Amino acid sequence: MLRQLKFLIVMILMITQIKTKPKPPRIPINNLISVDYKTWQPKDFHKEWIRDSLQPGIPQIPWTINWEYQPLNNRIAGITRHIDTRYILIDLNPLYAYEWDHVFMHELIHAQQIIKGDLRQEGDTWYWKGEMVDWSIPWGNRPWEIDAEKRAKSFINSRK
Ligand SMILES: [Zn+2]
Repeated sequence: MLRQLKFLIVMILMITQIKTKPKPPRIPINNLISVDYKTWQPKDFHKEWIRDSLQPGIPQIPWTINWEYQPLNNRIAGITRHIDTRYILIDLNPLYAYEWDHVFMHELIHAQQIIKGDLRQEGDTWYWKGEMVDWSIPWGNRPWEIDAEKRAKSFINSRK
């Protein structure tokens, strides 16, 4: 009987502890965003690059490149999605708004990789230059990311 009572007391203690454990403070997402992302616009150099390097020559039908801000996983700065025929939508994560000039350029290069057919999706499988993509490769070693980072950096530096 005594043993059972002890057990009961321990259980109650544990339950009360769980209940009174303070919740971690929730930081509102807007407090983490350092710039007013709502005023950001693609720069002239982005628009020039879209015109000169992304669009096919006349008389081919141009692509529509659109962008929006979208809360994404906090480790993802942007996503490029080929969502319809000749339509690409770029999602930009407001957490990275302080470097959207770069992020947008990086995503535009992914758009170019998709338009040229270097980066291709078939069902759930992706191909990079004809070879099946191995998603276990770390981000920094993926050839399409190396290409996007390198060209985005050098293009933006050349425009400063
Ligand atoms: Zn990327």
